[in-house]
Amino acid sequence: MKKEGILTIISGFSGVGKGTIVSALLREYPKEYCLSISATTRAPREGEKDGENYFFVSREQFETMIREGKLLEYAQYVDNYYGTPGDFVREKLSQGINVILEIEMQGALKIKEQYPDTLLIFIVPPKASDLLDRLINRGTETKEQIEGRLRRSAQEAVYMKDYDYIVVNDKVERAVHQIHQIIENEQDRVCRR
Ligand code: 5GP
Repeated sequence: MKKEGILTIISGFSGVGKGTIVSALLREYPKEYCLSISATTRAPREGEKDGENYFFVSREQFETMIREGKLLEYAQYVDNYYGTPGDFVREKLSQGINVILEIEMQGALKIKEQYPDTLLIFIVPPKASDLLDRLINRGTETKEQIEGRLRRSAQEAVYMKDYDYIVVNDKVERAVHQIHQIIENEQDRVCRR
């Protein structure tokens, strides 16, 4: 019987560089992983494309997706909804393909309840002050939005203990290699069952 793919969730405080790490992981190992694209009510940032970075939807469309059971999980983050379309994830896993989700903690813990084998990886910066520096430098959020994101990070810190692994983003290549190694080890463990 064909084994299911491994479901891995990458979370981390806003500004830690999760997006950069996930893009590099997919570039480095295109055959091994596929990324689930989330739906969100947040407006696209400059350069973001619909269907590539997110499915950008209205609040009404998002609420319809919730009502119709289209989402594996969803959460409110600062002022917006974010959610994982269920069909895509279920289909890829059943085809034996490893799926990466880049989502926040509430959603991660909801998915862990449904799929207890999910790997939860939390990315942290080498220095706490890097978060504020990155958020200011990327220039995509207002001062109020940055404050909201930092407040949210402080609340999320409590749940770090529920994650399986913590990876420090000191160098992107190193973080990517570590994540790949963690998933490979998990794959070996599952295959030995
Ligand atoms: P951003 O606005 O910076 O792209 O994302 C804000 C937060 O939402 C990040 O922590 C990101 O990981 C999280 N996020 C993105 N997609 C999803 C999703 O489908 N579900 C949940 N629960 N969180 C998500």
